[in-house]
Amino acid sequence: MIKARRSVREIEEYVAGKSVEEVAASCGVDERSVIKLASNENCLGPSPKAVEAIKDAAGCAHLYPSVDAVGLREAIAARYAVPVGRVVCGAGMDGVLETLLRAFLDRGDEAVIPLPAFSYYEIVTRFCGARSVFCDRKADFGLDVDAVLDRVGGRTKFIFITSPNNPTGNLTPLEDIRAIADAVDAIVFVDEAYIDFAGRAETALGLIGPCDNVVVGRTMSKAWGLAGLRIGYAFVPEPVFGEYMKVATPFALSRIAIAAALGALGDEGHYRRSVDVVREERKFLLANLPFRAFPSDANFVLMDTSPLTSQRVVDGCMRRGVILRDCASFRGMGDHYVRVSIGTHDQNLRLIEALRSVRETA
Ligand code: PMP
Repeated sequence: MIKARRSVREIEEYVAGKSVEEVAASCGVDERSVIKLASNENCLGPSPKAVEAIKDAAGCAHLYPSVDAVGLREAIAARYAVPVGRVVCGAGMDGVLETLLRAFLDRGDEAVIPLPAFSYYEIVTRFCGARSVFCDRKADFGLDVDAVLDRVGGRTKFIFITSPNNPTGNLTPLEDIRAIADAVDAIVFVDEAYIDFAGRAETALGLIGPCDNVVVGRTMSKAWGLAGLRIGYAFVPEPVFGEYMKVATPFALSRIAIAAALGALGDEGHYRRSVDVVREERKFLLANLPFRAFPSDANFVLMDTSPLTSQRVVDGCMRRGVILRDCASFRGMGDHYVRVSIGTHDQNLRLIEALRSVRETA
């Protein structure tokens, strides 16, 4: 039997959550009565302008897209007032991470990951043959700058900082990011997948110029409503740009994805509505969830379900047609945290009802 690389064999297989179809089939109900609040998708759906653009692009599906998505990179650069030579794209932020780490991580290098964290950082680090070095966030999930810096050594090439963090929902103060960036000779990857939903402007974008080691990752999967098309991008310092482009998969973004992204970027109204509904509904959920909920700057809320286990709550809600995310699969999180994506008002009412009913019958 031919063996995969050792670093690959050591990776545990990714177990995806249940889909609407699976849950509807197992509960014997219509798919339309199941709601998924497990993957932090956009509850309003895609922009109609993106859908139009997808239809228009379909007739050119036989043609390769731009090799480096330059048209989309230009549109992003214009929106955020940065040079196009500071914007890279990939198949989702996952794709951006994969390319970036492939360019910079050598076998034996290390990446520092404050926990709890989005699990893909660890997976990509592993398959590059490098080592994840973990440190804990504080009890309130705030970033512990000293704990991060304690874990930095001679082989540290990356430090992952997620702001707002997944699955905890809290922002990281810019001065903490700056303090870490100034203290290390490594790339500080600031993952801003959920920054659009934050209550205050805390983007690390402004650090790209002054710090030559900060990369800011973004995605069109959340506020822009295009998770199914896999569009991610990052703002990078000048020295990172050229190296990234050398190893980037040619034609990584499909013609349809690029067209949809441009359509979505041309619809600020839909983007605003997507952000506003989350901010409004977040207040409603935080005031009404029947478990202890943590403050959030993202389009999801973390709940502490104790004394019930997360599995009990997630299974109970699933039987009631509401799919949630059990955080037991996040390294170091224990068995009593559940993450709920913020839905439309009607979805949130159903969520609260399901949670209350699980709690009462426990
Ligand atoms: N970073 C974080 C913190 C995420 O939660 C996610 C997706 N859930 C990603 C990155 C990846 O996003 P994308 O869909 O763009 O690959």
